[in-house]
Amino acid sequence: MPMSNAFQERLFPSLEKIAAHFGTPFHIYDEAGIRATGRELQQTFAGIAGFREYFAVKALPNLRILELMRDLGFGFDCSSIPELVMSRSIGARGDDIMFTSNNTSPEEFLAAEAEGGCILNLDDISLIAKVPRFPETICFRYNPGPRRTGNVIIGHPEEAKYGVTHEQVVEAYRLAKARGAKRFGLHTMVASNERDYTYIVQTAVMLLEVVEMVQQELDIRFDFVNIGGGLGIPYRPTDEPLNLAAIGREVTALFTQFRQKHGYAPRMLMESGRYITGPHGALVTTAINHKDIYRKYIGVDACMSSLMRPALYGAYHHISVVGKEHLPKSEVYDVAGSLCENNDKFAVQRELPPIAEGDLLVLHDTGAHGHAMGFQYNGRLRPKELLLRTDGTVELIRREETVDDYLATQQFTADSIRV
Ligand SMILES: *Cc1c(COP(=O)(O)O)cnc(C)c1O
Repeated sequence: MPMSNAFQERLFPSLEKIAAHFGTPFHIYDEAGIRATGRELQQTFAGIAGFREYFAVKALPNLRILELMRDLGFGFDCSSIPELVMSRSIGARGDDIMFTSNNTSPEEFLAAEAEGGCILNLDDISLIAKVPRFPETICFRYNPGPRRTGNVIIGHPEEAKYGVTHEQVVEAYRLAKARGAKRFGLHTMVASNERDYTYIVQTAVMLLEVVEMVQQELDIRFDFVNIGGGLGIPYRPTDEPLNLAAIGREVTALFTQFRQKHGYAPRMLMESGRYITGPHGALVTTAINHKDIYRKYIGVDACMSSLMRPALYGAYHHISVVGKEHLPKSEVYDVAGSLCENNDKFAVQRELPPIAEGDLLVLHDTGAHGHAMGFQYNGRLRPKELLLRTDGTVELIRREETVDDYLATQQFTADSIRV
């Protein structure tokens, strides 16, 4: 069931008031829901000593949200310098940060080791020689290639640009050891929005097998394995939710078996984004136009600058029309933004109740990869973000962009050279 009932019950009765005060469009996030899901994840893996979630910052890069993650005891999965800067600005240091970049630049290596460093996760064997000061703790991203298939969004690992191959993995740790590494981690990320729990369990099986292989070859122990993110959420009312409890049960058993066999077990890390915040966010937008041509259109005051997923991957986001949740869905609409791109539609041929201009539309499950993916094409600016606090207050946690923001990168000290 998309978007929790509890969030709807907290949000919908106050939406007119919130919209009147802040103006639409906005994304709004539910602190109580985010905290509850965070605790659920921790309880699920409490049987694995040292379990820690590293929130994938790219899913919802807002400082107030990152503070919530810090309060939950989570670390931060970063893959760019601004993400490192944000995480450090709310106090994350050292092992609180895992830096998983791809096609890494020299500037990124310097930023990773600055300010107390972080856990460095290398994406390729050739990068070992390029790390300026080799850290004591090192991790590699593993790409299983043809050994794994099946996840719909990520596709075949063999075609993915990430990670070291199965054939390279032992050599990677050998080289890292030669450069002075003393603690080792192993990482992978082979799924996205995966709701089949067995796929996630198989990822843990795969990583523990690689750990066994490498430790046998090199006589090292592994401090941790990071099974990545990619836990799925139901976007459609008919989607089955992920069976998190089953993952917890089966993965905990795998770590227990590993401990029995080897006399120790690595810690388990995870870097979920979508699962933690996805269902606890919504995009609220106002219907401003009706258009009746070959199809019926509802024009809203948000567009793909606020939420790219439908246009980018045809993703489904459930829509509620506030105050009309229980009316029959007697109309078929395309719900469109204002961008000069025909794929700027939040819904295509969607059955909805009759919508009047001024109605508030709620697009569900925009709490991850929502605002963060927005862009400014066509001079369409990104909206504000609000947080519904557990005490019932609603707080502005990011203002909307202005024309001055849009022009800021074109206002600079004159610079030119003759060539
Ligand atoms: C995007 C990403 C994540 C988070 O993915 P979700 O689907 O939001 O859980 C985690 N790790 C890496 C390396 C990523 O690129």
